[in-house]
Amino acid sequence: MSDYRVVVIGAGMAGLLAGIKLKAQGVDFTLYEKADRLGGTWRENTYPGLTCDVPSHHYTYSFERNPDWTRHLPPGPEIQAYFERTCDRYGVRDHIRFNTQIERAAWEDGGWTLTLANGASDRADVVIAATGVLHHPSMPAIPGLETFEGALFHTARWDHGVGLDGRVGVVGMGSTGVQIISALAGVSGRLSHFVRNPQWIMPVKNGYFSEQERAAFRADPALLERFMDVETYNQNVENYTLGITQPDSPGAQYFRQACFDNLASIADPALKEALRPDHEPMCKRLIFSPDYYEKIQHPQARLVRAAIERIEPAGIRTADGELHELDVIALATGFRADQFMRPMEIIGAGGMDLETLWARRPVAYLAVSMPGFPNFFMLNGPNGPVGNYSLIDIAEHQWGYIAQLVARAQETGSALCATREAMEAFDAERVEAAKHTIWYTGGCQSWYLDAEGIPASWPWNYSRFVAEMKTPKWEHFGV
Ligand code: NAP
Repeated sequence: MSDYRVVVIGAGMAGLLAGIKLKAQGVDFTLYEKADRLGGTWRENTYPGLTCDVPSHHYTYSFERNPDWTRHLPPGPEIQAYFERTCDRYGVRDHIRFNTQIERAAWEDGGWTLTLANGASDRADVVIAATGVLHHPSMPAIPGLETFEGALFHTARWDHGVGLDGRVGVVGMGSTGVQIISALAGVSGRLSHFVRNPQWIMPVKNGYFSEQERAAFRADPALLERFMDVETYNQNVENYTLGITQPDSPGAQYFRQACFDNLASIADPALKEALRPDHEPMCKRLIFSPDYYEKIQHPQARLVRAAIERIEPAGIRTADGELHELDVIALATGFRADQFMRPMEIIGAGGMDLETLWARRPVAYLAVSMPGFPNFFMLNGPNGPVGNYSLIDIAEHQWGYIAQLVARAQETGSALCATREAMEAFDAERVEAAKHTIWYTGGCQSWYLDAEGIPASWPWNYSRFVAEMKTPKWEHFGV
């Protein structure tokens, strides 16, 4: 083992991946995690019904399959357990420093100085930021929020001490709100879903793997690989991304029609119209749900389309004058998607700081590297792919790319980052392409859009991303 040292920030899915790979390469590394457990989004979100909408067997590291998933779509607690188990199996836990927040990272004397919240410091040749995308809850600016006398919390801060059998209100119809309604319909005495803008729902089945199936997968990894059929899955991801970037493609037509047919399955004409979105399918991140339309029709559930006017001590007052009396309000109002490593202070070479580089919007060359920030690389960084497919797969491709940068930096004793020209050219092309995606043309507001209304996600198809991540174009990097 050389004295070359890497620091990874964040022990979620991507940071754990980096840890596993660095360990395998015999690189000295420390993984800093601000919380007391690993898992990132799967640690922070514990709401009822928490599920990933990527097929279970595809939501795993390629080198660590999991024959034991119980459902076709993985339940949140099983995902958390999978990451915990995988961390131990690959011996990464000893490298993690839990309850340790990095407050500042500064490039000084040819390396990174990291300042910890407890006042201690560390040094590293390379920093990998794996700090996640959706982890800063977005609290809605609803008047009277603080006056509510029942229990009120954001869905990523679920209070499990609060009973749910009374009158529960859920605000928001993203993936989170939909999953919670599905889980609580019939559980809560009265369940009200406050929906400002309905979203399209892609129907999906979420069956169970039998004990026999799981035993067969355990006994024969080749059977599991055949079952997964990675090639076909990747083709589906390709078709999905083509659907976003080419709204007339067969992929787009398929998803559009499936959403239209799903909505048409609602028999009650008034409810059907109340749930009809005013934008194109896929303009917002598609919601995959096996049963929302059925569950919202449960006798104890109710859709509320009237605008929320304010929150009062007893409940939610809507613009039509009605007071919806509630015991619990769950805010499924999403996340601030432009934060990434913030609020960490990051100072690059020559005093360049992240807030200056990101003053207009978060930018990075290929979502991985930033000019002026040598040997600082990101997993799931700004403007990378984010969609209804496995972010684990995306992170693995990014890792394959970053590993080449780290190896080159180590071999040559240099510090690498994208040149300003390369990043600006990339970003200009990305912004132009983004204006042709359904996220931009589909007529909706969503967390994909940055402050200027430009979609902040990979605006090309999956295969282009895979190709870009194969080998760095070294001429785009400086030292
Ligand atoms: P989201 O998609 O951003 O949805 C937020 C919802 O809250 C929207 O319906 C929004 O309405 C509503 N809202 C926000 N402020 C409001 C206000 N002041 N009054 C009324 N309604 C308000 O958030 P999310 O559902 O938490 O999902 C975020 C992302 O997390 C997803 O897109 C996905 O990437 C990820 N996620 C994934 C899964 C999965 O299965 N893989 C599950 C959950 C979450 P408007 O549309 O009117 O703005």
